[in-house]
Amino acid sequence: MGLRVERLSKTYGPVRAVDGVTLEVPPGATLALLGPSGCGKSTLLRLIAGLEAPDEGRVLMGGADVTRVPTQRRDLGMVFQDFALFPHLNVADNVAFGLVERRWDAAARAGRVEEMLALVGLEGLGRRRVTELSGGQQQRVALARAMAPRPGLLLLDEPLSNLDEALRAELRGEVARLLDGLGAEAVYVTHDQVEAFAVADAVAVMRAGRIVQVGTAQELLGAPADAWTARFLGHENVWEGEEAARVARAAGLARLPAAGGALLLRVEEVVLRSPGETGRDRRTAGPDAVVREAAREGLAWRLVLGVPAWGTDVVWRGHSRELGGEPAPGTAYELAVPPEAWRLLPPGEAA
Ligand code: ADP
Ligand code: MG
Repeated sequence: MGLRVERLSKTYGPVRAVDGVTLEVPPGATLALLGPSGCGKSTLLRLIAGLEAPDEGRVLMGGADVTRVPTQRRDLGMVFQDFALFPHLNVADNVAFGLVERRWDAAARAGRVEEMLALVGLEGLGRRRVTELSGGQQQRVALARAMAPRPGLLLLDEPLSNLDEALRAELRGEVARLLDGLGAEAVYVTHDQVEAFAVADAVAVMRAGRIVQVGTAQELLGAPADAWTARFLGHENVWEGEEAARVARAAGLARLPAAGGALLLRVEEVVLRSPGETGRDRRTAGPDAVVREAAREGLAWRLVLGVPAWGTDVVWRGHSRELGGEPAPGTAYELAVPPEAWRLLPPGEAA
């Protein structure tokens, strides 16, 4: 069907919560709306849902302007952070809720509820009270309830944020699979970039009411719009202003960052070699580095490396098999840095 929002704005007193947002979600696709707390994600979602009226702009579903159509006539399903289940109804009746509203007959309802419970891994639990379920199970019920009537658009606002880390990791794979099989568009709001990239085809990065950049994981991580976006997406090797120019010069880059621009080292392209190791090629030959801090992060290592030739530190992440042994403060390496590991970023908007 396709969703499009055009120049949407919403102001609360002095706060421009949503500030001229234009976005498009192609038929069947999932878009993640990713941004820090307070940047306007929920407000934008409420405008799309019709729970809030915009000051300016319009919302189009399947090409039709629905800006003034009430929520219950917009053919959408919603999932919220706090699950918002009906506590007085059992699991099956929660899932059937939208089907009753849409006047499905009892037999069709029962069949669809069974199908949905199987889809979210809750078969056999239809008669349970929702208050007897775990948080993860409750959110599965909320997903099943939202998807049961086959809405043309599914809106999810931080659906996994109230779950603990292990459950979140488990459910984000499942939600990705459900949204893939949905066949309708979905807008998935989150402040967590891992979640955004796991569930969505495209990610829109939002900051202070505006969309900063839209793209696939590869596009965003490979070429973030500016220094703020790069850091927000998890890049740790970003230099700005004078420092950016200084590091670029020290590294012998052919081009220097523009005034106000930034320099990014995509450290996933950087290989650490033991000093004097054979097989160095000139293209990637880089400077000496020495470990200043070494910390385990799960199965990986996070190293802070001093790089005297560049006059700066570099943060590197990877596995010990890439290091030829356990790193410790003082361990020396040579960096192998292909030219494409560097990116010049344009100046960003001030916060
Ligand atoms: P997010 O979901 O990204 O955390 P919100 O959309 O909830 O952000 O909020 C964006 C901004 O709008 C915040 O500054 C918030 O305080 C403000 N805001 C949101 N809803 C209201 C409201 N109903 N009344 C007044 N201010 C609001
Ligand atoms: Mg929110």
